[in-house]
Amino acid sequence: MTAKVVIKKELLDVILEGAQRLYPKEYILLLRGKTSREVVAVSDVLIPPLATYGKGFSGFPTHMLPMDFSIVGVAHSHPSGGLEPSVEDQNLSMGRIMLIVGFPYRGKENVAVFSRKEGKLSLEVT
Ligand SMILES: [Zn+2]
Repeated sequence: MTAKVVIKKELLDVILEGAQRLYPKEYILLLRGKTSREVVAVSDVLIPPLATYGKGFSGFPTHMLPMDFSIVGVAHSHPSGGLEPSVEDQNLSMGRIMLIVGFPYRGKENVAVFSRKEGKLSLEVT
């Protein structure tokens, strides 16, 4: 059984609005929250230090990050609209989950969540 990801609607809106603001550049955020075997609950977002936003590239130097075990994953945008992780996305992975928001960033239908070990995860917006 794969884990499910739970996020509040308000927080998902913050991520979607940020992605809209930066379009056509990529947007990247760290996700904080709690994880258990069955549930990853995202409770907060964090702008990574020294984040770079670009067309087809966004990232941050992971060695600059504080040791923070409340980071459950990374969210980033796909201005192309695709909801599948790209090969380069493997370099972005940190924590357990990778949340991708695809253009036009309207709502849950433009969001997908993946885990390196578990593949695609289901998303519950509360
Ligand atoms: Zn990507």
